[in-house]
Amino acid sequence: MTPRRQTLAHLPTPIVKPVRLARAIGLDLWVKRDDMTGGPEAGNKIRKLELLLADALDRGADTIITCGGIQSNHARATALAAASLGMRSILYLRVTGVGDAEPDLDPSRLALEGNVLLDKLVGAEIRLISPAAYRDRTRLMQEASDALTAAGAKPYVIPEGGSNGLGSIGYVHAMSEVRRQLDVGLAGKKPFDVIVHACGSGGTAAGVALGAGRYEVAAEVRAMAVCDDAKYFERVIERIIGEAQAIDPRLTHPAHLVVDDSAKGPAYAVSTPSQRARIVEVARLSGLVLDPVYTGKAFAGLWALADSGALRGERVLFIHTGGLPGLLAQGAAFGSEL
Ligand SMILES: *Cc1c(COP(=O)(O)O)cnc(C)c1O
Repeated sequence: MTPRRQTLAHLPTPIVKPVRLARAIGLDLWVKRDDMTGGPEAGNKIRKLELLLADALDRGADTIITCGGIQSNHARATALAAASLGMRSILYLRVTGVGDAEPDLDPSRLALEGNVLLDKLVGAEIRLISPAAYRDRTRLMQEASDALTAAGAKPYVIPEGGSNGLGSIGYVHAMSEVRRQLDVGLAGKKPFDVIVHACGSGGTAAGVALGAGRYEVAAEVRAMAVCDDAKYFERVIERIIGEAQAIDPRLTHPAHLVVDDSAKGPAYAVSTPSQRARIVEVARLSGLVLDPVYTGKAFAGLWALADSGALRGERVLFIHTGGLPGLLAQGAAFGSEL
C-alpha cells in the first residue's frame, strides 16, 4: 500500500504558463515548478526523499549514506534534509581529473561553491572518489554502512539520485498533485499530451510515467537523458518501475515512456554553447532559471523537438526539476553567452 511520507517539500508546486516563451517556441507550454519544492533543498530530489527518509526514520537510522557527482543536487538535498531531521550524512562524490591526470581526492582542496558549499555548511562528510571507484558505488556504500553498523551507528543507504522504487513514488504523488491542479482548472482542463523532464538516474521518469498513467495526467512521458544513452535508461527505468509496482500494485499502467538522448551533450555536467544560449534565452523570455547539467539540456531538447514540428498542437508540461546551485557553480562556462 502507500508508504509513509515525511513532510519535507513545500507542496503543491505551481504550474505556470510562460506566455512569451511559449509563443517563441510555438507550443502550448506549461511548467511545473518543482524548482520551488523548497528553499536551498529544492528540486526534484526532495519529493523522493520524503519517502526514503521516512523509511530511514522508521528504521531508526541516524546516518544517511548516499552518492553522486561532485555537484550532485541529490547529495545536497539529502544532506540538508538529513540535517533538518537531526541525522548525519556521508556523501560519496565522484571527481574527474583534468586531462589525463588522476583526480585530486583531497576534500580540503574542494572549491566551496554551489552544492558543495551547501553540503559543507550543514556538516555533511564528503568522501571523494574517482570515476573508476564510483562504478562500484553500491558495494562501496554497503561497506561504509557495515563499518558504521559495527561501530554502533544506524546507517541507511540511499542509491544515486534517490532512484529506487520507493523514491520514485514521490513522483507518483507529484502526478496526483497535477491531477488536482487540472481538476480545478489551474492548467487548463484537459490532460497533457506529453510531459518532458530531465533524466539523470531514472527515478523521476519511473514515477512520472507510473503517476501520469494512474491519474490520467498525460498520455506520454519524454525523459530527456543528460548522460549515458536511451538504451541504458530504458533498462534502468524499467527496473525502477518494477520495484515501485512491487511496493504499490495499483500502479499497473504507466504512461507511454520515451527516453530521448538527443540533448545529452558532450558528457554529464558538460553542456554545449547552444544549450547555454537556450538557457539565456529562456531566462530572458520568462524569468525561469534553468541549469546547464539537467534542465537546460532537457529544455534545449524540447525546443529542438518543437522546431522539428513534432509537437504541433500538443499540450506540453515541462517539469522544472531545479538545479540552481549547479548553475551557480558553472558561471565561468557562460563567458561567451553573456
Ligand atoms: C537529479 C536531477 C534530475 C534527474 O532526475 P532523476 O530522477 O535522477 O533522473 C533532473 N533535474 C535536476 C535538477 C536534478 O537534480
